[in-house]
Amino acid sequence: MIGRYGQLCTVAYGAGAINSTGETAKELGFKKVMIVTDKQVEALGHSQKAIDSLKKANIETVIFNGVEMDAPDYTVEAGGNMAKKEQVDGIIGIGGGSVLDTAKGIACFAANEISISDMIHHAPMKNPPVRFVLIPTTPGTGSESTFVAVITDTKKHEKVGCFAVPSFSILDPELTLSLPKEITAYTGMDAFSHCIESLTSMQPNPHSDLLAYDAIERSVKWLPVAYKDPNNYEARDNLALASNFAGKSFNDSTVHVGHAIAHSFGAHFHIPHGIGCALVTPVVIELTASKFPEKIKKVGKIMDIEINSEDPVVIGKTVADGLRKFMKSIEVPSCKELGITREEILNCTDYVRNEPLRNFGGVAVTDEMIPELLAKIYDTYQ
Ligand code: NAD
Repeated sequence: MIGRYGQLCTVAYGAGAINSTGETAKELGFKKVMIVTDKQVEALGHSQKAIDSLKKANIETVIFNGVEMDAPDYTVEAGGNMAKKEQVDGIIGIGGGSVLDTAKGIACFAANEISISDMIHHAPMKNPPVRFVLIPTTPGTGSESTFVAVITDTKKHEKVGCFAVPSFSILDPELTLSLPKEITAYTGMDAFSHCIESLTSMQPNPHSDLLAYDAIERSVKWLPVAYKDPNNYEARDNLALASNFAGKSFNDSTVHVGHAIAHSFGAHFHIPHGIGCALVTPVVIELTASKFPEKIKKVGKIMDIEINSEDPVVIGKTVADGLRKFMKSIEVPSCKELGITREEILNCTDYVRNEPLRNFGGVAVTDEMIPELLAKIYDTYQ
């Protein structure tokens, strides 16, 4: 069989890399740029650094700061209409995954005459997106190195989206020093979940595996450090790389049932995406150990978990329990602590059944298995 692995776009990386935004925009030939961000990231002064750098390069800027959590469709439409009106030739997203995905959506919408609903439900688009650069400020989604934009259909309460490849990404770990410890923990677990699902998908490859193992190693070593000491630059540096590598890994493989379930939690309970990903990941490990015992064993080894068996069921349970312990150490809340009941979790069954990602794992998930997986999430992490 002939496999495939890919690379998405060049990444400029390092402390202060955001100050090279103007240089990058100039290289790309941008004349007028729309900055896409949210009010929190703007208030922290992060987007201003990019604007100052663009000004030095004599590039005109307009600002769209209306991004909301989980990239609602109406914000993409509003930003896209502004980009059309302003006739920008470049878009720069600066923020967490919600901002980066909104920027991707805006880039597609601005270049096409299409309704927002058709666009996020994957109707064909005539034109390529306006070229865009992404600058992440959370170490979790890796969206700066993926071709997917996850956008919320606010009428149907579904996470759907569109596809767009960034022209360039700028990874500046200093931007994540301002993250509070809770967001550090759950965005870090988002990256971790990308690794586990990428390793156990229906189409992993040696390149995606390599990136996933490296990202897991950085995450387990540095996430507890950043959680305790948010100002620790070495930890932030390693977590920024972990997130980027994890994003590249799943972009080259895929995520699967864990993300189908995490999306259902986002739609039903409006909890941060990373918390949903964290809650489901131990159960994904147990599910997939039957097909990938050696990979799960290797994850356990990286996490320093003692495994005294060759039985895939024991391997899966041991590593999943080790991860649950790790999650407790960084205070990832349980469903109960989030005020979600067992019955409410089971109510996500239909959403997960209809989520295409559920079919992309290396282990088939039947309709009957979905409520079992959901119940397990509630029962095994209290
Ligand atoms: P987020 O973007 O929603 O941000 C969470 C909060 O953190 C916001 O209030 C934001 O203002 C704040 N914040 C961001 N950077 C900060 C900083 N440096 N300091 C202080 N506060 C900061 O959260 P997220 O977890 O980064 O993104 C989640 C979204 O990304 C979800 O919608 C998810 O579906 C999507 N996602 C996309 C991909 C992809 O490949 N496209 C992958 C994974 C997740």
